[in-house]
Amino acid sequence: MQNKMKQQAKSQQNQGKKKNGNKLFKPRKKKSVEEDAAIQYLQAQYEKIVPDEIKTFKDFPLSQKTLKGLMENNYVTPTEIQREAIGYALQGKDILGAAKTGSGKTLAFLIPILEKLFCKKWTRMDGVGALVISPTRELAYQIYETLRKVGHLHDFSAGLIIGGQNLKFERKRMDQVNILICTPGRLLQHMDENPLFNCDNLQILVLDEADRCLDMGFETTMNAIIENLPPERQTLLFSATQTKSVKDLARLSLSFPTYVAPHEQADTVTPESLQQSYIVCEIDEKIGILWSFIKNHLKQKVIVFMATCKQVKYTYDLFCKLRPGVSLLALYGSLHQEKREKIYNEFCRKSNVVLFATDLASRGLDFPRVNWVIQMDCPEDVDTYIHRAGRTARGIFGKGEGLLMLLPHEEKFVEDLTQRKIPINKIAVDPSKVVAPQRKIEALLSDNTDLKQTAQRAFVNYVKSVFLMKNKEIFNIQLLDTDAYARSLGLIVPPRIKFMHNHQKQNVTKKQEDATANNVNVIEKLKAKVDEDEGSDQSAAEEDESPTKTKKIERKPEKKLKNKKEIPKIDFHYEEDSDEDDFLKVKKANVEVELTPIDEEQNIMSKKKAKPLTKAAVAKKILKKKIKVNTTVKFTDEGEAIDDEKRDVKSELAKQFINENVGGIDIEKAKEVLKEEDKYDKQRFREKVKAKHKEQKRKLKNKKKEEEGEKDDFGSQSESDGPDLSWLPDPDKIYGEKDGSNSDDNSQEDNRLMTADQSSIGEESEIEEKYHRPSKRKLVESRGIPQESVKPRKVKKIEDISSSLSVHEAEALAMQLLQAKR
Ligand code: ADP
Ligand code: MG
Repeated sequence: MQNKMKQQAKSQQNQGKKKNGNKLFKPRKKKSVEEDAAIQYLQAQYEKIVPDEIKTFKDFPLSQKTLKGLMENNYVTPTEIQREAIGYALQGKDILGAAKTGSGKTLAFLIPILEKLFCKKWTRMDGVGALVISPTRELAYQIYETLRKVGHLHDFSAGLIIGGQNLKFERKRMDQVNILICTPGRLLQHMDENPLFNCDNLQILVLDEADRCLDMGFETTMNAIIENLPPERQTLLFSATQTKSVKDLARLSLSFPTYVAPHEQADTVTPESLQQSYIVCEIDEKIGILWSFIKNHLKQKVIVFMATCKQVKYTYDLFCKLRPGVSLLALYGSLHQEKREKIYNEFCRKSNVVLFATDLASRGLDFPRVNWVIQMDCPEDVDTYIHRAGRTARGIFGKGEGLLMLLPHEEKFVEDLTQRKIPINKIAVDPSKVVAPQRKIEALLSDNTDLKQTAQRAFVNYVKSVFLMKNKEIFNIQLLDTDAYARSLGLIVPPRIKFMHNHQKQNVTKKQEDATANNVNVIEKLKAKVDEDEGSDQSAAEEDESPTKTKKIERKPEKKLKNKKEIPKIDFHYEEDSDEDDFLKVKKANVEVELTPIDEEQNIMSKKKAKPLTKAAVAKKILKKKIKVNTTVKFTDEGEAIDDEKRDVKSELAKQFINENVGGIDIEKAKEVLKEEDKYDKQRFREKVKAKHKEQKRKLKNKKKEEEGEKDDFGSQSESDGPDLSWLPDPDKIYGEKDGSNSDDNSQEDNRLMTADQSSIGEESEIEEKYHRPSKRKLVESRGIPQESVKPRKVKKIEDISSSLSVHEAEALAMQLLQAKR
């Protein structure tokens, strides 16, 4: 009964579940139908969009989720680029969007992304539907944050894929991501390595800061990425300095994109609310001017752009030590990702702060409320100027000021700016207001070697950057007062710039080669070749302290780089602390020239990697060539070198091993030899112990004899047991030879035995007894050393007899002896 009831209950439950399931499904279906209808309605409106009639976002045919997301973030009125681009994007057109910095380009592509995926009823299971590529991690992060704010009501998932993050973590979640925001390098890494990455369904591709993404710094990476993307997709390109290069567009298969440039007819290419000025100053005045500027703008938010990472690092380190009275931050590529994020967020949050940055921060970053942008070094080109300056005066109400520092010979750059419709005024700095902390800087550097090294690196990297600039009319290394620049950084001795030295050499070599071509002077040509080789050898290390070389560079007449061959092959990529800086990436402009040898080198390296090179293999190679690398010299305890190593080894195996000269390479054989030798060692040890025991027995015997009252003055104690008497003068010299048997030869023999074989200690003690003891004893007595330590000798008895006779008796005895001899 109970079982039946249970079954009934179960079936009822199941039925209920089914019913419930149906109930749940029904509204979903209903919802889906509603959604379909809404989508159809919205899509039908796309063709009717007239940008000029759009007053608010509500005038766009957008989904409720998107509209709500926009309103929540106070985005009510679309900006010009949004008004013009969103309509075309919704219609599915490829877009080439160009609009001033801070004009709202981000939303101009994020809104179409959300709407496109919404209309396609995209779910998590559909994979990557949209891809946004940004040239920097910070910008990618910023886009991702905006997407999260505006699109959070949608059901799509978004992913941020940037370098410096946990690759494994990213990998696992890759298959669930619908909108991917990424940097080119990391995206390609996932494409190459992650089996879960799939973008076959990609609907829309966006390149923010498109001209930067497509420039030479990212060329190979972007080409590889594009190859992996499905061709039937919508593509949107946005930038303040948009590319119109047909080549670039062809790379993206954009044959007829819609060009959207609302500010094309505007009077200026920079925001109207951006007030721009420049000053002309000497290179050694820059630091003082910057310092004074910061001291005078303590309540402002300032970004200072510099040419290289090393300059940023140095200025930041230095100014932190000088304590200007305002928060200082530094942002550059070679910083650790976590630090980069922290600095980025800190600068966004703070209001009175100075950020020293490289061009890493020049593109796209929307730092709120920046008052000033200082460009301490002349930017590479007008585009870079526009992007740097565009970090201020952003958004609808944003205001800001820009200051550009130019060296006298760089003033020509202003012409380029004005030609590109950039309004900029020359201003002068009141010298009385400039306080250069020169002495403090020098004092700090003399105290701090780390800071000094950072200064040296800043110096070299700046000079290097100027040297690599394409626009030689503005960036003229010969007109750069490098000594003055070094001094301004606090370096009394300017670091030597080796790459310049090499460049100089190469030029000289080239000239020499040209001459020889005309003159057919073989000797000259050979000389030139040698010079060239020397130059290339030095190119790896680039800085040390030799002022003379720097001066040489300055005096050298200008030589324009006419063709690629003349560009020096400087390998930044292998520099120990090479910059990950975007700035230097752009310098890959000389890609063909510089990368070829590196690639070759990498190929060689990878070939070598295939067959691991062990130490043993190297050693064997050397042995084969019969090169004597190291020789082992063994010493005796007395410090004498043992010439014949074999004399120290006993076993046949060891002798053979030494003869073969295999050293420690054949470990197994070496082990065997050691085992064999160990047997002999043990034997030697046993003998030693025996000898010692013998010695002790003898001692005991002597002691007994003494106790028995026997008058015995001489001992047989070995030197090793008794006090060291070697310091004593030769007793024979003092007392004369007693028995003529204590010759030098004997003592030499004694020494030889000691060094030749330690096992002969027992014999040695016997020899000692025979020749040395009598004379030593007298000295021992005279110095008060106890007599017990000295053993008796037979000679003593003869001595005693002669001394006891009277003169007459002695004479008679002598006569008898003489007669007997005859
Ligand atoms: P761009 O990419 O053109 O340099 P961003 O997209 O970074 O500009 O936008 C610049 C600033 O303008 C951001 O702070 C953004 O929040 C703001 N912004 C964008 N669109 C609007 C809008 N429609 N209304 C108000 N503020 C906007
Ligand atoms: Mg932008």
